[in-house]
Amino acid sequence: MGQTAGFAAGAWIIRQPASIPNTYRSGRLCPLWFFSVDMNLSTLNSEQAAAVRHDKGPLLILAGAGSGKTRVITFRIAYLMGQRGVAAGNILAVTFTNKAAREMRERVEEMVGKKAGKGMTVSTFHSLCVRILREDIEALGYKKNFSIYATADQVRLVKDIMQRVDVEGRKLDADRILYLISDAKNRLVPPEKFTVRWHDEYEYMAASVYPRYQKALKAYNAVDFDDLIMLTVRLLQEHPDVLEKYRQRFRYMMVDEYQDTNAAQYKLLRLLAGDHPNLCVVGDDDQSVYGWRGADLGNILEFEKDFPGTTVIKLEQNYRSTGTILAAANALIRHNIRRKVKALWTAGDPGRRIDYIRCMDEEDEARTVMERIHAERFRNELQYSDFAILYRTNVQSRAFEEQLRYENIPYVLIGGQQFFDRKEVKDTVAYLKVLVNHRDEVNLLRILNYPKRGIGETTADRLIRYSAKKQLPLWEVLRDPAAIEDLGEKSRAAIAAFVELMDRYRQRFNRHSLMVETMRELIDELGLEAEIYRNIEDPVKARRRVENIEEVASAMAGYLEREESPSLAGFLAKVSLLDDERPDRDSKEKKLQRDAVVLMSLHSSKGLEFPMVFMVGVEEEFLPHRKTLNEGVDVDEERRLCYVGITRAQRHLILLGAQKRKKYGTLQPRAASRFLEEIPAELLQQQISEERPVHSEEEQEKMAANFFAGIRGILDD
Ligand code: ATP
Ligand code: MG
Repeated sequence: MGQTAGFAAGAWIIRQPASIPNTYRSGRLCPLWFFSVDMNLSTLNSEQAAAVRHDKGPLLILAGAGSGKTRVITFRIAYLMGQRGVAAGNILAVTFTNKAAREMRERVEEMVGKKAGKGMTVSTFHSLCVRILREDIEALGYKKNFSIYATADQVRLVKDIMQRVDVEGRKLDADRILYLISDAKNRLVPPEKFTVRWHDEYEYMAASVYPRYQKALKAYNAVDFDDLIMLTVRLLQEHPDVLEKYRQRFRYMMVDEYQDTNAAQYKLLRLLAGDHPNLCVVGDDDQSVYGWRGADLGNILEFEKDFPGTTVIKLEQNYRSTGTILAAANALIRHNIRRKVKALWTAGDPGRRIDYIRCMDEEDEARTVMERIHAERFRNELQYSDFAILYRTNVQSRAFEEQLRYENIPYVLIGGQQFFDRKEVKDTVAYLKVLVNHRDEVNLLRILNYPKRGIGETTADRLIRYSAKKQLPLWEVLRDPAAIEDLGEKSRAAIAAFVELMDRYRQRFNRHSLMVETMRELIDELGLEAEIYRNIEDPVKARRRVENIEEVASAMAGYLEREESPSLAGFLAKVSLLDDERPDRDSKEKKLQRDAVVLMSLHSSKGLEFPMVFMVGVEEEFLPHRKTLNEGVDVDEERRLCYVGITRAQRHLILLGAQKRKKYGTLQPRAASRFLEEIPAELLQQQISEERPVHSEEEQEKMAANFFAGIRGILDD
């Protein structure tokens, strides 16, 4: 094998038997034929194989980055089905992102065959709960066609309630109120048990908003993200028959990235596991990076106590990174006190020293990365897709995107502004939500007069007041506008036309095979695109928004292709739960397979690996993040994030930071991250970037032109 191939795919490949065909040398799993009759576990080390073979009872695999945890879970699922005769329907595997779930499913299917894998549940916590609730939510007094409220819907509802609770309240930030509610839900605290702990005005406001918010959600037959878990837990607690059904169904459970589970997710697993838990969890306490979202490190640290009789397996060999990268990661994470000590080692070579480049400013940082990409590609015959640029906050991506376009380097940006948070997309989806669930008043009010159809604010106010007075859902009020005395004829006609339109499309969407055509006709009939062109002057911007609407239809087409029994409600659940991407004509995997540099936040990079990683903005205030510093909390979680970033690198790691950055229009000095001092100097090769000429005006113009060219594949605008 040539040096280059080994370089790109990771050192471990060299140790594999020569008979393995090249296609399977890329770290992916081998197909079934390769396992002979009884499954061949020889591509695993002895601890990994023991974990795969582990029979019944709780199993904890606590291991560092790149030690094969995810690989073990994947093998274990295949092994349970292939060797132990466990039915696919009895398997539940929970991962952290939809992408990870899809990958895991595909790999298992590669091993056991698509047909044999049918019926297993491999999903995120949220998707799992949607499935459970779709089946059984009626026991809690909701209807099965419930809406799922994402942040935008939640904020709208909370603002509305705040206005009603207290006129003063309008000055408070709705996001913070929502955060407090979300935090309570993650701790499984229902509205009636919400207590004020720090006695500030936000808490008092949250205490009065939370019960009303929850009541409104129920009246609208809607649930928010946190409800998905909290209500599922309640369902299982209050209805033993339902609990028993799922216990019987999910006899073997596997959870990846267990260190990032919160109290509600823990309770859910606890309930499903019952007294004889075949629960296998894998995780790394050093990679817990979702404390701010309620993740409780205690879940993994105390697993053995919580589940007596737990078998613990440690994996200590790292198969991903060079010795140098691993040594840096180990040295850094040693500074965290509350952790299980692990000794990660690699049989691979030490590899190159880690580069640390202190750049002039953010433009210089971006240009340096480009120069490195060109040089390394040429020198080591790498592909663009071998490079990842990782940053702490999504805003940092902008400078890199600009340079990548200028240099004509293909790239994919993962995450960033959520596609479904865009106005035009929200408007379109709001129609679909109301078509599925006409009690969804947040979305009903959103579309009532969008595009304008003659149901102005005064009319809407009258309708709302009437619905409150009569205690009737708004939709019922719309059905009978004649009953409201102070409405003009024109408004009545407009309302009747709206109701007729919605009824007609509700009927039509029932024909699932024609969903996409129906959707396009709905967009047409509503004149959504014309409305955008009317309201937005800049034609390029307007076109991009129109394309976004079309993108929703494409996403639906994709969903229809993949799903065996599709429905509009199913589609909406899918789009609400997209964790990190916008839908695209290309699936995310296809994009990752495309030869393009990957840009993403450190949080999104969890679980992934790349031959060459640029970690940028390694400065105080980015890493550790300003928020942490201001709040005076310890920086352990930020250190773990840094550890996650370092351990994504397989062959070479390049750290970068700027000496100055523009803030409020002026250049301000930046200090290097404290974490750099925690990496032994001998592992680092430092370089301070020289002052370089700024771009000429002509160059700058060209960059700007390129930047706004509206190239497809832009994930963030
Ligand atoms: P993370 O903590 O980042 O999630 P992980 O512990 O889940 O990492 P994996 O992603 O499963 O680790 O594995 C890391 C890399 O090592 C993958 O490329 C995987 O294919 C490879 N690998 C794992 N175990 C072995 C093995 N026994 N032999 C060869 N390669 C292996
Ligand atoms: Mg993993």
